[in-house]
Amino acid sequence: MDDPLVARMREFGTTIFAEMTALALRTGAVNLGQGFPDTDGPPAMLERAVEAVRGGLNQYPPGPGVPELRQAVSAHRAARYGLDYDPDGEVLVTVGATEAIAASILALCEPGDEVIVFEPYYDSYAASVALAGAVLRPVTLRPAEGRFTFDPAELAAAAGPRTRAILVNSPHNPTGTVFTREELELIAGLCAEHGLIAITDEVYEHLTFDGVPHIPLATLPGMRERTVVISSAGKTFSVTGWKTGWVCAPEPLVRAVQTVKQFLTFTASAPWQVAAAHALRHELGWVAELRAGLQAKRDRLTAGLTAAGFDVYRPAGTYFVQADIRPLGFTDGLVLARELPSLAGVVAVPTQVFYARPDRGRHFLRFAFCKRDEVIDEAVSRLKRLA
Ligand SMILES: *Cc1c(COP(=O)(O)O)cnc(C)c1O
Repeated sequence: MDDPLVARMREFGTTIFAEMTALALRTGAVNLGQGFPDTDGPPAMLERAVEAVRGGLNQYPPGPGVPELRQAVSAHRAARYGLDYDPDGEVLVTVGATEAIAASILALCEPGDEVIVFEPYYDSYAASVALAGAVLRPVTLRPAEGRFTFDPAELAAAAGPRTRAILVNSPHNPTGTVFTREELELIAGLCAEHGLIAITDEVYEHLTFDGVPHIPLATLPGMRERTVVISSAGKTFSVTGWKTGWVCAPEPLVRAVQTVKQFLTFTASAPWQVAAAHALRHELGWVAELRAGLQAKRDRLTAGLTAAGFDVYRPAGTYFVQADIRPLGFTDGLVLARELPSLAGVVAVPTQVFYARPDRGRHFLRFAFCKRDEVIDEAVSRLKRLA
């Protein structure tokens, strides 16, 4: 049979993650490719989920989400950022941030509309844009003074008459950049000038280092009314398998997203929702410890990668480090990623897979540091073989 997959999804057929994970398993390499933690979230939150299941919270919750979670999301946004969202009508619970992103793009973009996305990007963005029949307009983040950022002129040039939305992920996976107020002001200015909707992926909102603040784009003047804010419990509370996310936006935007969401999944799993509500209200102290621990892990891994001979970009947030492979004499991250298990017993992800134009990220590898210290130390000691 010819490939039965619709044409617009064919370029998304195979992902590098399956290949790299299989490689790690086959070779016994330390896997720093996968971006999920190898330790559990706050015990009382886990207990809350167990209680919910045992207590009979096992049928369809309301389409917009369990009220307890919508209220906790609203209270969290207000307390942390001074942004008010009505839990009834301006908050929608989704099956992770991933569904929120897909539903937002499907709900808000007509076929042929353009969506500006910073590359490298989280891999679901391009697929969601393609599913909607929309057109990706990539703007490249490049290293400048030790961090990845965009060229304001390139950003300005990316918007045109067909541009509908801009997707903004800060703290940014995979570069670790946390956008500054100045960068966000440029994005806000573009949105105002071209009447764009902003879709912000803030799943790493709590995971910033060295006191660098996460500034939601929606806090900038004029932005709340045109921004769809997306976040999720997965990264904040180390429960990436729970797939519990949420959208905060003005009512007409939430209604649009919910119109699509109800026919993708109708609603999200109930037990995780009450546990996530507990966590947002009572476990931010635990998150502060997670953040401090991750900062130390970042330092551990960046020091090790530097000692191994990579040029390392120290991230201000997220789980990930970008390493330039050229000082070690390599030029293609995909080639090196496939050889790294035999060269050094470690698995990483070639960053080029996160670009619309892979040549722009050819020389980077992405390493994850959301792992136990002994795992990072083992990887670092193995990577010394490269030097
Ligand atoms: C992990 C991740 C997501 C997915 O979040 P879920 O809640 O698991 O769907 C979305 N965006 C980015 C940037 C991520 O790293």
